Amino acid sequence: MAIWNLGSINADFVYRVPHIPAPGETLSSTGRQMFLGGKGTNMSVAAARAAARVNHIGAVGQDGRWAIQRLLEYGVDTRNIAVLDTETAQAIIMVDPAGENAIVLHPGANAEIPQVTLQAAMAEAETGDWLIIQNETNLQRTAAEMGKELGLQIAYAAAPFDADRVQAVLPSLDFLILNAVEAAQLEEAIGTAPADLPVRDVIVTRGADGADWYSAAGKQHFPAIKVDAVDTTGAGDTFTGYVLAGLDRGLPMEQAIGQATKAGALMVMRHGTADVIPDLSEVQDFHP
Ligand code: ATP
Repeated sequence: MAIWNLGSINADFVYRVPHIPAPGETLSSTGRQMFLGGKGTNMSVAAARAAARVNHIGAVGQDGRWAIQRLLEYGVDTRNIAVLDTETAQAIIMVDPAGENAIVLHPGANAEIPQVTLQAAMAEAETGDWLIIQNETNLQRTAAEMGKELGLQIAYAAAPFDADRVQAVLPSLDFLILNAVEAAQLEEAIGTAPADLPVRDVIVTRGADGADWYSAAGKQHFPAIKVDAVDTTGAGDTFTGYVLAGLDRGLPMEQAIGQATKAGALMVMRHGTADVIPDLSEVQDFHP
């Protein structure tokens, strides 16, 4: 089996600032780092580190070849990443000494993934493979419908939240994952609680309060592991990648969520995103 992930690829520029600038203010940063980022990238890297066969479907600009190289190094198949004559997506992230942040996201190539790139990938997909979509790219609905038609299992991480987009793909989904805020937003927008959504498996992640899995068998709660959190960025994407990799490798949902819970806990204990996602052996050796 394999995972196909239609997902964002970002260059994350992180600037340390004394405070978040006010309108009209110019401020010098005290440090700057660049990371590989984007929800799609994080999920691909997490699933690959969790020992799944992962094919990323996406796009970068000419300036993004390094990102493709990095994904390759992390074990992700990058043949379906288009290199376009536009910029690679960027996130400009300002972080103050208290850890508060402000982010500007420039979607660039993430919003221009060519339909032929998606079609070429889907031509290789096999019945039963997983297709992951999230809200940082174009073509989600097309992908969900195309994937469904081909007998793939469709997984959707509804972030950044957009009620219209959720509703557009809902009929195609086998798996939906939301954090607590997104679950509340969805319930308010469509009047349906997670337990009543017409999707086989729904997971709501609740940070340090763990995660809930809703299925035909009812609701099952998975507590988080008690750890000292220093940076929660990327925990949700890592959790999603690990759950789907586990399912793709044939694990029952309980075990897939068990590994994802450990991977999420390891992630919040470290700074960074894609570059620091733990691999399966680290997760298996983690006995808190
Ligand atoms: P983000 O957007 O920060 O990547 P998210 O809001 O999508 O995250 P969360 O619900 O915060 O996702 O986290 C996903 C999972 O990671 C949780 O269900 C939990 O298992 C684990 N996790 C998150 N925060 C903590 C924490 N403080 N301590 C232990 N585990 C955590």
